[in-house]
Amino acid sequence: MDERQIASIVEKVVAKLATEGVATSGRAPTVLRHHRTHADGRGVHPTVDSAVAAATRAFQDLHACTMADRARYIQALRDVTRAENQTISTMAVSETGLGRVDDKLHKNQLVLEKTPGTEALHSTAWTGDDGLTLTEMAPYGVIGSITPCTNPTETILNNGIGMLAAGNAIVFNTHPAAKGVSAYFIDKLNAAIENSGGPSNIFNCVAEPTIETAQSLMTHAGIRLLAVTGGGGVVKAAMTSGKRAIAAGPGNPPVVVDETADIKKAGRDVVFGASLDNNVICIVEKEVIAVAEIADALKREMKANNAHEVSGGDLKRLEKLLITPDNHVNRDYIGKNAALILADAGIRVPDSIRLAFAEVPEQHPFVQHEMLMPVVGFVRVSDVDAAIECAVRCEHGYGHTAVMHSTNINALSRMARAVNTSIFVKNAPSCAGVGLGGEGFTSWTIASPTGEGMTYAPHFARARRCVLKDSFRIV
Ligand code: NAD
Repeated sequence: MDERQIASIVEKVVAKLATEGVATSGRAPTVLRHHRTHADGRGVHPTVDSAVAAATRAFQDLHACTMADRARYIQALRDVTRAENQTISTMAVSETGLGRVDDKLHKNQLVLEKTPGTEALHSTAWTGDDGLTLTEMAPYGVIGSITPCTNPTETILNNGIGMLAAGNAIVFNTHPAAKGVSAYFIDKLNAAIENSGGPSNIFNCVAEPTIETAQSLMTHAGIRLLAVTGGGGVVKAAMTSGKRAIAAGPGNPPVVVDETADIKKAGRDVVFGASLDNNVICIVEKEVIAVAEIADALKREMKANNAHEVSGGDLKRLEKLLITPDNHVNRDYIGKNAALILADAGIRVPDSIRLAFAEVPEQHPFVQHEMLMPVVGFVRVSDVDAAIECAVRCEHGYGHTAVMHSTNINALSRMARAVNTSIFVKNAPSCAGVGLGGEGFTSWTIASPTGEGMTYAPHFARARRCVLKDSFRIV
């Protein structure tokens, strides 16, 4: 064989490995085959059956990969999301009609930076006279994940990193109103894994998701675990599906401001939190409960931070626009800009206005409903104890999220205990609770009904114990 022939063979092998993918780590390289299944994009399938079949093959391929491989694929997911952030944030707003592009950029950035990966999984060892016992965190297999239209790409990435870290493949039933951006993003995520040498189809979805496809995913024999993120309907469906489910449901987070709070900061924080992505996020402030002594000062600070107070005839028109005669939220206005909503109620404000609020009684729909738009009720109460009791009632026992601004540590402790939520934020916008301006990792599947709270990789792993009697001690 001459040098030209050898060079040609080397070139062919390198090209083949580049298309098939080579997993490199401390161990011998793992060569993985890529199963292309559908013209709609990598991981986008015509049926739930074909999506589960592809995910099952991907899960088997993952067995050949090391933890270092998984960590590398996750880094590739973070990198591709950073590169695609502008595109997916713009697509999400234009497809769903919900939220603000600038805020979605921050949300996706937060998820790519602060979602824990393989480092969150820990093994445990016990040694003693009887030998050695190990517990290791193993994958379930294929996880079914049902995602909302309010945080479509954030939930896919956040769940996806945690689930892949634990060694699982995933079938998403994305929200029908966000199916385009979700399929686009899933294709990019799969490409990133393939390009870093990993298996194809770790992430899967159906091209045309519906409630029926979600329900068939919930009962599919190939699905070991469900993670659902959405409103009360999908939570109930998952919890009665007969499968183990991690269920993240609705909330109605109250924010209490008492007379000891830093009112300037509280006013700024309340507007920042309650207007973030036009209030579609489950954890953001949905009603303000203010102690009478500081209520007017708080309103002034909110107005100084681009909030607009609505009252009198304006309030009547706004109520008519947003609440249907049978006392439901008018879904046409979910996630819309405050200035647009107010304009449709005949109230002209500059585009810089991010939030509308109205002083109303506790029973008002702006307080009681999860409005999911930048319009919040403002309730005035006599003292901090009345405020805490009011907040507990308005939270409706979801156990989701609550916020308080106060410098009275006894009052903060009383509220923390009474409201009993998965997330409780003190002296910050609610988003600090998911790591935006607060310490700690981020999660976009906050499972209050099933108790996991801020879900991450360990929740998507099975604990497996292995016992060796009388051996492997070194002392
Ligand atoms: P949604 O409940 O309308 O949809 C969520 C998903 O569930 C979608 O994919 C939808 O197709 C599916 N679905 C809905 N009803 C179903 C049923 N009966 N059977 C099977 N599948 C069903 O929610 P949304 O409007 O997309 O999102 C907003 C809601 O989700 C709010 O209530 C919000 O508080 C909640 N949410 C909660 C969290 C959390 O972490 N707790 C995160 C995001 C959103």
